[in-house]
Amino acid sequence: MKPTEDWTTGMEAISFQCCAACNHVQYFRRAFCAACGAPDPVDKTASGQGTVYATSLVLRAGTPEAREHVPYNIVLIDTAEGFRMMAHGANDLAIGDKVAARYARFTGRLVPYFERTSA
Ligand SMILES: [Zn+2]
Repeated sequence: MKPTEDWTTGMEAISFQCCAACNHVQYFRRAFCAACGAPDPVDKTASGQGTVYATSLVLRAGTPEAREHVPYNIVLIDTAEGFRMMAHGANDLAIGDKVAARYARFTGRLVPYFERTSA
């Protein structure tokens, strides 16, 4: 699996980029580093480990397709690699929980789904 292949292309992985010049990490793929502007940040695959930064339990679905999933939790995760990402998560997650990613189907799409780790 190439590091540019991840859940957005249907693979069970999360990609990010790391700048070779300043080590800045970024989640959204760009042709340059958002911190220093250096070209061609390196694509990498994340471990899926992280910590919950914020949670938002959705009680009213935004679309008819999402209604069957209600209630569902939208979480912000500070990943072990240093970038922050929005994802789905278990409904009982709390801020500060250590989590790991698995993958689930949401309205037909494969999405990262974070669950608390035993530690
Ligand atoms: Zn940089």
